[in-house]
Amino acid sequence: MSALPVDTTVSMLRMSLRTARYEKDYIGFVPTMGALHAGHAALVRAAKAQTAFVVVSVFVNPTQFGPKEDFAKYPRTLEADTKLCAEAGADLIFAPAVEEMYPLMPPLTTVDVSSLGDHLCGASRPGHFRGVCTVVLKLLNIVQPSFAFFGSKDYQQAAIIRRMVRDLNVNVGIEVVPTVREPDGLALSSRNRYLSASERAVAPGIYAALQATRARAATVRAVPALEAELRAALSAIPGARVDYASVVDADTLQPLAELDRPAVAAVAVFLGTTRLIDNVALP
Ligand code: AMP
Repeated sequence: MSALPVDTTVSMLRMSLRTARYEKDYIGFVPTMGALHAGHAALVRAAKAQTAFVVVSVFVNPTQFGPKEDFAKYPRTLEADTKLCAEAGADLIFAPAVEEMYPLMPPLTTVDVSSLGDHLCGASRPGHFRGVCTVVLKLLNIVQPSFAFFGSKDYQQAAIIRRMVRDLNVNVGIEVVPTVREPDGLALSSRNRYLSASERAVAPGIYAALQATRARAATVRAVPALEAELRAALSAIPGARVDYASVVDADTLQPLAELDRPAVAAVAVFLGTTRLIDNVALP
C-alpha cells in the first residue's frame, strides 16, 4: 500500500484539495486527535463509503484540554496513524502543528453552543466544548468537506457539533457512526492505553452497567431511580470513581424526570487517573 500524503500546513492542504475537489467532487472529513484505533478506522470507512476523497485530520487540540488534563502526555503516533488511515481508505492526512492552527494564541474568536454544553462532560470539563467547537469549525472552514464524520461514543460532542452547524449555516452534512467496542464491550478509546492491567480488566464494567440500565429502562421509567442504579453499578467497579452517570433527553441533553421521550444514558468514570466515557440509547 502506498504511503498517504501528509499535509502539515493550511496552504498545502488547500492546494491538495483544489485538485481533489475538481476531480472527485464529494470530500469526506474525519477530525481526530490521532492515536488512532479501529473506532477511528470505522469513521474513515464510513466516509469512504459516502464520499470520493477522504481527509483525516490528526491534531491534538490544546484548547480543549483543561490545565490539569493530559494534553502533554496525549499519545502522538503519526506514523501508525497514517498506516491505519491508508488501510481504511483515507486519501490525505492533515497534521498541522499547534502554531499552524493557532498562529495567534489564544484565539479571540471562539464558539460556544450554550445549553447543550452545560451538562455531562461540559460540567466536569469547563471550556472543553468551546475548544472542540472552535477547532472543528476552523477545520471545517479549512477542509470545506461535503460530509464530516463523528463517533457516537462522544455523544455530547456529536450533538453539539450538529447544532453548531445548523445554527451557523455551515455547509456540511454531519454523520454519526456507532461506537466500536472491544470484544468484552469496552468502547475503544485512545486513552485505553493509559489503563494498567488491573484497570483494563475491570473497565468492561462500564458498558455492562450501561447495558443493565438499558434493560431496566424497559420497566423502570423514573429517571432518578435509573440513575441511582447506574451510579451504584459503576461505583461497584473496583477502583472506579464516577464523574457523572446521567440519563438525559437525547436531543437537548437536558435532565429528565421520566423516560417519556428518546433518551441517552451517558457516563464518565475515572479508573485511576484515566477518565473514560461511554453511552447507550434508551428506548
Ligand atoms: P478523538 O481522536 O478521540 O478526538 O476522536 C475522533 C473521532 O473518533 C470522534 O468523532 C470520536 O467520537 C470518534 N471515536 C472515538 N472512539 C470511537 C469508537 N470507539 N467508535 C467510534 N468512533 C470513535
